[in-house]
Amino acid sequence: THVGMRQFNVVLLGAGGVGKSALTVRFVKDQFLDHYDPTIEEEYRRTITVDNELTSLEVLDTAGAEQFTSLNEVYIKAGRGFILVFSLTQEASLKEVENIRQQIYQIKGGGTNVPIVVVGTKLDLQSEREVQHATIQSLASRWNLPFYETSAKRNWHVNDVFEDIVRQMRERYPPE
Ligand code: GDP
Ligand code: MG
Repeated sequence: THVGMRQFNVVLLGAGGVGKSALTVRFVKDQFLDHYDPTIEEEYRRTITVDNELTSLEVLDTAGAEQFTSLNEVYIKAGRGFILVFSLTQEASLKEVENIRQQIYQIKGGGTNVPIVVVGTKLDLQSEREVQHATIQSLASRWNLPFYETSAKRNWHVNDVFEDIVRQMRERYPPE
């Protein structure tokens, strides 16, 4: 039988200004702009080959700046995979990731294995760095989640993030 290309949706969540749009646009269009309209929420689509298998990804770049917005709940209900984004240059944005992570498990049901990747952004801004590698490493291992340190500007490790989430979603949602 013919098996069509699998399709998944992934939602980027995180505090305002951490670089969700930059990461998305780097992945989808291979571009970096210095300014993205912080109020714009957009859904993109791209295909990606992971382990020799082509997958269609729908990527939702959210724009909510407020934590615990009711919109978050809508996104979480609709999303199959989540990229939780914080900035390595802003300690407070890591707390926001912790909140969102809890919110996801509340909504999806505790104990569920939800595909999630944690991403620290702006790795190129070394002198502004506030979150140390060891900090995020111990948090992520406590959460049992993979994490990546990235730069959308320099295109460091951006693809790794999306490949990881695709692998997780394939495993979590096997074809019928
Ligand atoms: P969002 O609100 O989470 O969507 O954040 P944006 O993607 O709009 O990024 C906020 C600001 O951080 C913008 O001025 C971006 O140009 C900048 N930015 C995002 N990613 C990077 C990065 O990897 N390196 C550097 N140096 N700046 C970045
Ligand atoms: Mg944005």
